[in-house]
Amino acid sequence: MFWQKDLELMPPDQLRGLQAQRLRRTVEMAKKSPFYAKALAGMDPDGITTPDDARHLPLTVKQDLRDYFPFGFLAVPRSQVVRLHASSGTTGTPTAIFHGKADLKAWADLVARGLYMVGVRPSDVFQNLAGYGLFSGGLGMHYGAERLGALVIPAGAGNSRRQISLMRQMGTTVMHMIPSYAHRLAAAFAEQGLDPRADTSLKIAIIGAEPHTEQARRRIEEMFGVKAYNNYGLSELNGPGVAFECAEQNGLHLWEDAFLVEVLDPTTLEPVAPGQVGEVVLTTLNRRAMPLIRYRTRDLAALLPGDCPCGRPHRRLSRIVGRSDDMFIVKGVNVYPMQVEAVLMGHKPVGGNYLIVLESRESGDAMIVRAELRPEAAGLSPEERSGLARSLAKDLRDELLLTPAVEICDPGALPVAQGKAERVQDRRKLS
Ligand SMILES: [Zn+2]
Repeated sequence: MFWQKDLELMPPDQLRGLQAQRLRRTVEMAKKSPFYAKALAGMDPDGITTPDDARHLPLTVKQDLRDYFPFGFLAVPRSQVVRLHASSGTTGTPTAIFHGKADLKAWADLVARGLYMVGVRPSDVFQNLAGYGLFSGGLGMHYGAERLGALVIPAGAGNSRRQISLMRQMGTTVMHMIPSYAHRLAAAFAEQGLDPRADTSLKIAIIGAEPHTEQARRRIEEMFGVKAYNNYGLSELNGPGVAFECAEQNGLHLWEDAFLVEVLDPTTLEPVAPGQVGEVVLTTLNRRAMPLIRYRTRDLAALLPGDCPCGRPHRRLSRIVGRSDDMFIVKGVNVYPMQVEAVLMGHKPVGGNYLIVLESRESGDAMIVRAELRPEAAGLSPEERSGLARSLAKDLRDELLLTPAVEICDPGALPVAQGKAERVQDRRKLS
C-alpha cells in the first residue's frame, strides 16, 4: 500500500522535525547560488529551529527566475547538473529549472509514491500521453512510473489514432494525460466506433497540469470507465508529484517531507485560515541543484482540515481552483475560468472544449461563452440548442453574478490547443 512507508506515515511531530532540518540545509545550499547569496545575505541557517521560521525568509517570484535566467539559481557547479526543464509559460523569457542526479531520483520517488498510492503496480502498462521535452509533465511522470516498475509506453502527446492502437495492442491499464486531452481522445474512440470502456483494459487515469473541476473528473471517469486521480505540480517545483490524490479522492496529499507548503492571501501575503483559498507558496526541502525558497506558484487552493482515512498525515491540498493570473474582470466582477467550466460540465450535452471571449462593445465589456456539444449531442435541433444556451446563461448568471452570451457550437468547432488548452481570449486589449 505504501511506496516509502516511513516517510508517508511519519507522525506530524517527527515530520516537522525533518522539515526544520531540511529547511536549514536548503537555506545553506541556496546561499551558494547568485540569487540567494544576495536575497538571503545575513540569514543564519542555524537560527531555523521549526518549519514556521520559513516565514522570515523572503518570497521568490517567477520574475526572479527570469531576471537570473539561466544559471542564477544554481547552487552546485554546472558539471553536477544532469537535466534541464523549462516552465511552460507562453509569455516572456522562459525560466530554467535544473536537476542533479539525486534530485531526479528524489523526484521519481515522489511520483512513484503517488502512483503506488492509487493502485499502480509493476504489472501495469502505463501509457504516458503527456508531452515530452522541456515540459516536465512527460519525463517527470515517465521516470516515476518506470521507478515503480510499470511497463511505460512513452507515447507523448497527440496522435489519438496511434494512442488508441497502442492502448489496445499493449493492453494499457493506466494512462496519464492533461484533462483537456481526455475529451479529444474520447471523441477519437467514438469516431472509430469504439468504446474505451469495453474495448480497452484501462482502469486508472492520472490527470494533472491543468486546473479542472470535479465535474470534469467525473466526466473522464464515466467516458473511459476508469478511476481518475488528480496530481499537482509545476515545473519550478519539479513537475508532477508535488501533491497527489489518494484512493479517497478527497484532496491531494502534499508531500511535506519534500516541500514546505504555505497558503497566503495573494494581496496581504499573510497566511489564510485552514480551509480558506489562497495562493500556494512552496519551499523545496530536498532539492540540491536548484533549491527554491517560498516560491509563489500563483495557483489558488486551500489546505483541507481534518485527517484522511488513508492514514497519511501529509496535509491535503484542495484541487486548484484557479490561477491568480487567470482571473479576469468583466464589468467589475472577478471571474475564474474554473467557475465557467463547473457550470458547463453540469450540463450533459456539453463537451469538454469551451472558450470564453471578452470583447469591448458600445454597451461596455461583453463576455461570450462558446460551448461545444459532445459528439453524442450533435443532433440537437435548433430549438434544443437555444434552450440549452438559455439554461447555461441562467446558471452562469447565478454562479458569476453577470450574464454572458452563450453560443452552442458543433463538436470539433472550437480550436484545439496543442498543449494546455487556452480558455480565455481577451480581445478587449486590441480594440
Ligand atoms: Zn489519503
